[in-house]
Amino acid sequence: MYERVKMLVDNNISLYAAHLPLDIHPVFGNNSRISDVLGWESIEDFGKYHGMLIGKLFRFNKPKKINEIAEEIKTKIGGEPVLWPFGKAEIKSVAYISGGGISMLNQAIEADIDCFITGEPAHSAFWLAKEAGINVIFAGHYYTETLGVKSIAKELKNKFKIDTEFIELPTGY
Ligand SMILES: [Zn+2]
Repeated sequence: MYERVKMLVDNNISLYAAHLPLDIHPVFGNNSRISDVLGWESIEDFGKYHGMLIGKLFRFNKPKKINEIAEEIKTKIGGEPVLWPFGKAEIKSVAYISGGGISMLNQAIEADIDCFITGEPAHSAFWLAKEAGINVIFAGHYYTETLGVKSIAKELKNKFKIDTEFIELPTGY
């Protein structure tokens, strides 16, 4: 651990790290930011993780195609979304959980959602999705979890006049 933070210690730089609290934060969180970034209105919280709802649920008046959604993600978040187009061609409902939400795919299936969006795929979820006939989009664990970090940076700049810089370091997942 010392080797990892040595550069910060040597240069008198503070470190603040957050994962789940930044996923779930109602204003700056990775999940709540997705509505603004994609310009979709979230109607409900979705996806129970350790007793807390961490994701978002969207319903569209005008249905979207899976490729259309993937294109929106690609232009507004970045990365190369991976598609499992196993469900309806006309998508009216989307459940979204940033990062490692694939373990919660069953909740989207039970809620009869047309498309589930999360960060990274899992081999073990492939047949579950295919047999249930649900569309899944993997927008990248890295990319879906840059949104909260960027919103915190913006807040630091606006509220505390602190210069910020986002360092792009994609992991490929
Ligand atoms: Zn994560």
